[in-house]
This record gives sequence, structure tokens and C-alpha cells, in this order.
Amino acid sequence: MTTLPNFAACDACNQRTAVVLKEQAVRKGVVETYFDCIVCGAHYPTAITNSALRTKIETLKQLRLTDGSATESIDALKSEIAADMKVLRERYGLA
Ligand SMILES: [Zn+2]
Repeated sequence: MTTLPNFAACDACNQRTAVVLKEQAVRKGVVETYFDCIVCGAHYPTAITNSALRTKIETLKQLRLTDGSATESIDALKSEIAADMKVLRERYGLA
């Protein structure tokens, strides 16, 4: 079974583009998740992580899987991840 890609409207060319997420290393240990517009090639970063952040994201997944009642820890971790990602985006000019 093939998964249909997500589509998004490109701000640069106003065409609909398939969202095919790719990853690239920005710096050592820092990975950017992004997609490129298939029409005009505009670059859209969707997430940026370093190893500490990936550990937190992994912990969050585990928490969600194993303990649905730990909503406070999940919420705290979620805002921590959002804050860390903001710092990384600003540091690497991807904001
Ligand atoms: Zn485009």
C-alpha cells in the first residue's frame, strides 16, 4: 500500500506541492527536516533537532505510549521541546 503524500501550497509560486520530508545535517549532530517545493524548489524547513532534542522527542513518544496519564510530564516536555527548537532555529537562521 502506498501512502499518499501530503500537499501544501507554496508561498513562493502559489502552486500545490507534495510534501516529501527530507533530512540534512546542518552542523555536526544538528539535523534539519525540510521539504522543497517540487515546482519552484523553494525550501521549507519544518523542524530542526540536535541529539539532546532528539532524546527528548524520543522520551515524549515513550511517555505517550506507556503512560497516557502522565499528561503533566508530557505537557512540560512538549514546551521544553518547542523552546529548544526555537533556540536552534534562531541559532541556525531557520526561523
Ligand atoms: Zn513553489
